[in-house]
Amino acid sequence: MFTPELIKKLDQIQTPFYYYDLDLLDDTLAAVNQHGLSKGYHIHFAIKANFNYKILNRILEAGLGIDCVSGREIERAIDAGFNPNQIAFAGVGKTDEELEIGLQHKIYSFNCESIEELIVLNDLASSNGQVADVAIRLNPNIQANTHKYITTGLNENKFGITIDKLPALFELLPELSSIKLKGIHFHIGSQIEDLNPFEQLCDKVNELQTVFEEKGHPLEHINIGGGFGIDYSDPDTHSIPDFKSFFELFDKKLNVRKGQKVHFELGRSIVGQCGSLISKVLFIKEGYTTNFAIIDAGMTELIRPALYQASHRVDVLTSKKSPKIYDVVGPICESSDTFQRGISLPAIERGDLVAIRSAGAYGEVMSSGFNLRDRVKAYYSDEL
Ligand SMILES: *Cc1c(COP(=O)(O)O)cnc(C)c1O
Repeated sequence: MFTPELIKKLDQIQTPFYYYDLDLLDDTLAAVNQHGLSKGYHIHFAIKANFNYKILNRILEAGLGIDCVSGREIERAIDAGFNPNQIAFAGVGKTDEELEIGLQHKIYSFNCESIEELIVLNDLASSNGQVADVAIRLNPNIQANTHKYITTGLNENKFGITIDKLPALFELLPELSSIKLKGIHFHIGSQIEDLNPFEQLCDKVNELQTVFEEKGHPLEHINIGGGFGIDYSDPDTHSIPDFKSFFELFDKKLNVRKGQKVHFELGRSIVGQCGSLISKVLFIKEGYTTNFAIIDAGMTELIRPALYQASHRVDVLTSKKSPKIYDVVGPICESSDTFQRGISLPAIERGDLVAIRSAGAYGEVMSSGFNLRDRVKAYYSDEL
């Protein structure tokens, strides 16, 4: 990925910045097409993972829809050229204003996460003289084996409607004449590398679909959500996630009714590997137990390590010297502002360039202005 010519170009740019490899993004989208779209699956990109227009353009071209979790994301998706009938809208705390944005654009699906939300949406749609298309987000109580902050499908989590509320839901639905129940929706968590939780999810979906049918609610669609993980430790060997196994699992396990549509909402697995955070080494400081490589990017540019102990591979782009042990740290006044501890890297010095890999998802979008730092910029492979 980082050829000598590319490294030379990157070395001319003011650091820190995000670098996106659009060829890798295209190849990833081609794999999604080959293994997912080709099976007739409807795939929505979770725009919260990365909302840069250049990336959204490629995703639009590839024929994906969008999954939003805020009103502004709906507006961004439409501005980027997506058709509202390709937009799903989830979120536990949608404001009235956000629901109105969805109604105004007549989006494909409001993925409702509580009984109260259904009532509010019904009222808003009714006063507009509209009928809103709805999927119920269900909490299937499945352990996703991922970091607890990105587990979303357990009873203790705030997301979705738990199964014990279904009787109340079925009782209420006939009274809500301004919403139309079209589907059921799930999203059990993120960075799920093992297919086993998805297999359990298939069983739950099959079981719940029957419950809805027995209550007189046949479903036009089933939305599986996202959460498929990427290989943070070896992004070069596994630059494209194994979409073949992922989609084949659903093909095999899910009981899909005739004419029923199946939707997915993938974020990280589509854009994660195509982005890197490029940073320069400011200082090397000898500590008691390690050497600190202090770089000019920090948790303000990439918060995942500080927030969920995420490990991003650090590659030194400008040194081939014999290795030493380093803690790679940012400049922010928080000890959590650490990218890696005790890793072996080619000996580095002030001015060397490093790439923090697999940062295309939940990287730039989560950047902040803490310490009044400048907002991080982005560069793309087609402009260098
Ligand atoms: C965040 C999110 C996704 C995408 O998750 P990834 O782990 O990035 O694939 C999908 N659906 C919903 C409802 C989400 O909140």
